[in-house]
Amino acid sequence: MRQFIALLITLLYVGASYADNRATLLDFRFATSDKRTQIIIDLDKKIKYSINTNVQKIRLNIQNVKLLSQTYDKIFYTDSRIKKTRVKRQKNTMNFVFSTAEKYKVNSYLLQPDEKYQHHRLVINLNNIATQQKTKKQKHNKPTQQKIILIDAGHGGQDPGAIGYRHTREKNITLSIAKKLAKLINRTGGMKAILTRRGDYYVGLTKRIKIAQANKASVFISIHADAAPRRSARGASVYTLSERGGSTKFAKQLERSQNIEQSFGGRKNLIKNDQYLNKILWNFSRKDRDIQSQKLGHKILKQMSKIGYLHKKIPQKAGFVVLKTPAIPSVLIETAFISNPQEEKRLNNTKEQEKIANAIYQGVLNYYR
Ligand SMILES: [Zn+2]
Repeated sequence: MRQFIALLITLLYVGASYADNRATLLDFRFATSDKRTQIIIDLDKKIKYSINTNVQKIRLNIQNVKLLSQTYDKIFYTDSRIKKTRVKRQKNTMNFVFSTAEKYKVNSYLLQPDEKYQHHRLVINLNNIATQQKTKKQKHNKPTQQKIILIDAGHGGQDPGAIGYRHTREKNITLSIAKKLAKLINRTGGMKAILTRRGDYYVGLTKRIKIAQANKASVFISIHADAAPRRSARGASVYTLSERGGSTKFAKQLERSQNIEQSFGGRKNLIKNDQYLNKILWNFSRKDRDIQSQKLGHKILKQMSKIGYLHKKIPQKAGFVVLKTPAIPSVLIETAFISNPQEEKRLNNTKEQEKIANAIYQGVLNYYR
C-alpha cells in the first residue's frame, strides 16, 4: 500500500512537471454538521467536473487538473459519513472515490473568487436523507418534503417605509409583490410560501425572523423598494448578510437605518450541552448560510436584470437585522427606486409587480436547480 502511494505521488509529480493550462487543486477542506458533510476544494481556476453517486460511493471526476503534494494529505478526511477516500489519476483527470456510510443526497456547485475567498471553489454537500424522512414523518406523512419559502413584505402599519414622489408607500408595494410571489410559489410542487405579514400592520423585525425559524424556512426573502435623495437613482439591488457587516458606505447607512431592533438570540437557539459542538455547528451554519445567500442573491439579480435596471450588479453585503437568521439563506431585495418617478409608476403597476414577483420566483427556482 505504501509503495502504491509512493508511486502515486511520483506519478502526480511527473504530471505536474509539464503543467500548463491545467487547474491546480490547492486545498481540501471539510466541515461536518449534524445534517451534512461539506467538501470544499480550493482551485486556482474554473474546472470541469462530474459526480456520480450510488448507494455507498461518491465518484468525483475532475478533468484537466493537477494536485499539489501538500494537498494530497488533506484529501483523506473521515467522519460519520465519509469512511474512506481513494484517489486515482488518469493522465490529466483526477478520480476521487469517497466511500460513505450510507446513501446521501449529494449536491455540488462551483463558486468564483470573491472579496472573502481568493480562490475558485468546488463545493460538494452530502446531505442526510434520514433526517429528511424523519421530519416528513413528524409532519404527519406529507407526500413530499416541502421547501418553505419565507416571504417578508417590508414595513407595514405605522411604518410606511419609503415614500414615493407621488406619495406611494413602500409598505403597500412590498405587500402586493410578496402576495404575487407567494401565489407563484404555492402553485409549484414541493414548495410552500409563508408570508411574515398578510395585511397592513406592523411586524417587528425579530418577530419576522422567529416566523422563519418556527416554520423551518429554507430561504428568507425580504422585499423592499429603495429611496434616494437623487431622483435619478434607479434599479434593483440585492443585499445578503455579511459577517463583517456592510461592504459599502451605502450598505452601512442602510444597515443603521434598518437595524431598529437589537440583535436577537439566534445563537442561544443552538446552544445545547456540548459547547464545543455548538461552536462548530454555529460557525458552520454561518459560513454555509453566507455562501447560500450569495448564491440565492446572484440567481435573483440575474432574473431582475431581464426586466429592469440594476442599481448594483452583484449582491451587496449588509448586516440587516432581518437577515440575521442562522442557517437560513436570506436576501433583501430592493425591487426598484420608489423615489424615482418612473420607477414609482412601475412599482404601482400590477403587470410590473407581476414581472418583479416572477423574476424573484425564477431566481428561487434556479437557486434550487
Ligand atoms: Zn424598505
